[in-house]
Amino acid sequence: MRISILTLFPEMFDGFMNTSIIKKARLKELVQMEAVDIREFTDDRHRRVDEYPFGGGQGMIMKCQPVLDCVDSLRTENSRVLLMGPTGRRFDQAMAHELVQEQHLILLCGHYEGLDARIREFVDDEVSIGDYVLTGGEIAAMVISDAVTRLVDGVITEQSHLDESFENGLLEYPQYTRPADYKGHRVPEVLLSGHHEKIRQFRLKESLRLTLRVRPDLLKNRVWTLEEQRLMEEVLQEENVLPDEKTVE
Ligand code: SAM
Repeated sequence: MRISILTLFPEMFDGFMNTSIIKKARLKELVQMEAVDIREFTDDRHRRVDEYPFGGGQGMIMKCQPVLDCVDSLRTENSRVLLMGPTGRRFDQAMAHELVQEQHLILLCGHYEGLDARIREFVDDEVSIGDYVLTGGEIAAMVISDAVTRLVDGVITEQSHLDESFENGLLEYPQYTRPADYKGHRVPEVLLSGHHEKIRQFRLKESLRLTLRVRPDLLKNRVWTLEEQRLMEEVLQEENVLPDEKTVE
């Protein structure tokens, strides 16, 4: 997979691309990633990439010409062009799975007060990473490329992401490491037992408990297995959740 990130601040990606899993995925040539400087595409002799908004108002707006010439220089029939923007479709794990199917992602980062609205007519989608306003699309592009890279075959083991939060519609169970007793705070005994089946059930139950406490919305349309129903009944009793408070049908 190839990920091209179009930005006015390519230097922001130096650390990102050369650290941890992203670095490994690039070195193993599982993912090809590049930060492309939009300013290199301006035809303005002062290298301007932004202008005042028509109609007045605060801040500067990124111009169509350098942005779209930059997109055109990279786009092929296998590219999907995503504009980073708070008014876009909300990014989540399901969308990360959708995007990892693509051969080439072009992530376009706005900055300043945003981009000329006509640029939207030339992209495939606008994507938001959440209901807040960032200074630029660079951090959003990092979020999306990180989440997608983890899902590329061979980047991490399949088992490690199958257990992760959101993969099976639940939050991940709590994890512990040595020491078994930290200042009187003990690791749950079952995890020290070596009994794989009991550990699996414990983890599933704690995963259900955490999801119920923190993200009950994730449970709304869940298709439950019999085991999950049984464990959830136990959780509801232990948590003293009244039947009419249940999000579980
Ligand atoms: N004036 C715009 C508005 O109110 O919708 C916000 C512009 S923001 C300061 C500059 C750039 O940051 C945007 O063009 C976009 O690329 C990026 N950005 C800001 N918030 C974002 C978010 N939640 N998700 C994705 N990109 C975002």
